[in-house]
Amino acid sequence: MRIDIITLFPEFFDAYFEYSILKRAKENGKAEIIIHNLRDHSTNKQKSVDDYQFGGGAGMVMCIQPIDDCISKLKAEREYDEIIYLSPDGETLNQQICNTLSTHKNLIMLCGHYKGIDQRVREHIITKEISIGDYVLTGGEVAAAILSDAVIRLIPGVISDETSALTDSFQDNLLAPPIYTRPSNYKGWEVPEVLLSGNEKLITQWREEEALKRTEEKRPDLFE
Ligand code: SAM
Repeated sequence: MRIDIITLFPEFFDAYFEYSILKRAKENGKAEIIIHNLRDHSTNKQKSVDDYQFGGGAGMVMCIQPIDDCISKLKAEREYDEIIYLSPDGETLNQQICNTLSTHKNLIMLCGHYKGIDQRVREHIITKEISIGDYVLTGGEVAAAILSDAVIRLIPGVISDETSALTDSFQDNLLAPPIYTRPSNYKGWEVPEVLLSGNEKLITQWREEEALKRTEEKRPDLFE
């Protein structure tokens, strides 16, 4: 998968993709992440990318020209499955959206800033709008990093044991069951006996029951 991220703050991503699974995904060719500085596409002398709102009001608006030029250039080079704008009023991100996006080949993610982007970008260029929750961030960079992380780890071959991603929370609309590791007894706090039994069938059954119990307790809405 190739992800092109368009941002005013390219340095933000330097550290994020240099750790753990995301780093490995890049190194073994499962994910290619290209960061674009929107300012490089501004045609004015000052390299500015924002302007005052028509009609007045507080907050600058990101202009259509550099965004259009940057995305048009990318689209001329390859086909994109989705051109995503990270936005608080987009579709709220969930595991199903991540599953779908993980099957795609090329994605663009546009990070907004200031008051947001000119509405015409949303109407004519963007194909999908995603929010990471009902709160407002300063910019779309954190949201793009979260979305990339959640999607990349689902690409087959990124996590060495693929069943691990499939048994995480929200797959099958359930929360994951409790997990334990050694020692089996710590200060008298014991691991459930069934997990030490070696009986695969009983262990699977216990995990299914615990996943249901946890979902019922913490997120009954997932059953709806
Ligand atoms: N004026 C916008 C509004 O009220 O919806 C908020 C703009 S916000 C300060 C600046 C940028 O941060 C947005 O353009 C968007 O890219 C990003 N952003 C903020 N909150 C977000 C969220 N919950 N999910 C995804 N992106 C978000």
